[in-house]
Amino acid sequence: MACAQCDDTGWKPVELDGVHRVERCDCWRERLVRDRLAEANVPKRYLHCTLDTFSAYNESLEKAAARARRVAEAFPVVGKGLLLEGQPGVGKTHLAVAVLKQVVQASGARGLFYDTRDLLRVIRSTYDPAIRTTEIEVLRPVMQADLLVLDDLGAEKTSEWVDETMNLIVNTRYNERRLTIFTSNYLDIPDDTDPNALLFRIGARMRSRLHEMCEFVEMDGADYRELPANGGVDDLVTLWKMRRRTLPARASRAARAQLREPPGRDGKADLKWPGGRAGT
Ligand SMILES: [Zn+2]
Repeated sequence: MACAQCDDTGWKPVELDGVHRVERCDCWRERLVRDRLAEANVPKRYLHCTLDTFSAYNESLEKAAARARRVAEAFPVVGKGLLLEGQPGVGKTHLAVAVLKQVVQASGARGLFYDTRDLLRVIRSTYDPAIRTTEIEVLRPVMQADLLVLDDLGAEKTSEWVDETMNLIVNTRYNERRLTIFTSNYLDIPDDTDPNALLFRIGARMRSRLHEMCEFVEMDGADYRELPANGGVDDLVTLWKMRRRTLPARASRAARAQLREPPGRDGKADLKWPGGRAGT
């Protein structure tokens, strides 16, 4: 059925102070937002994520949600992106997607989501080692998206090619002042020998660039995937407290500050940091 206001032209007649003009019809805006969301590559399981459905049941999550909201509401006048760091399942991807969706819905901007490893796989599939180039059709939307979410940074296997490619993407976006939100399971600790450290995973050059272009936000919470289907916020709090008890000595600063007892009775911390897991 054709739009009653614009007959599907996308322009509707308006009268202002006796002057007849046309302006963009609501249906045009709605269609634009719908198309932009469809093009944003958000995985199905995160499509429902919004800022309002994010449950912030502790201080670190409240802070993260507030910062995410600030970025979404201030867009496009935002100086820095975000790097959401924390263990798998605390809701980093939820928040990143929520910002992306809100920005697209409010402004019709071009948003793009990629799991970092998926992106590198796609780029590699068009890479020609003989001439050391990648098809620009793959890279262009990644470079030019108004807001890019790069999920699970650091999980990719490193190589010279990966470093080069990631630096190219990140530096181009930095130079053109485009907003990027990263999520990572790795800790931002200044230790380049610890495999759980972001620094170890991405190198000093990339880490210092990320600090220039992003606000680092630590998120500490339960793994929501351990929550039973009928579980609620109370269960998340319980799971979170259980998880905190097993935190290693070098765990997140926020978590450590909140934790008043020593890490383990035997003095040893035994948390396995499943850093390589995707999708959080
Ligand atoms: Zn219309």
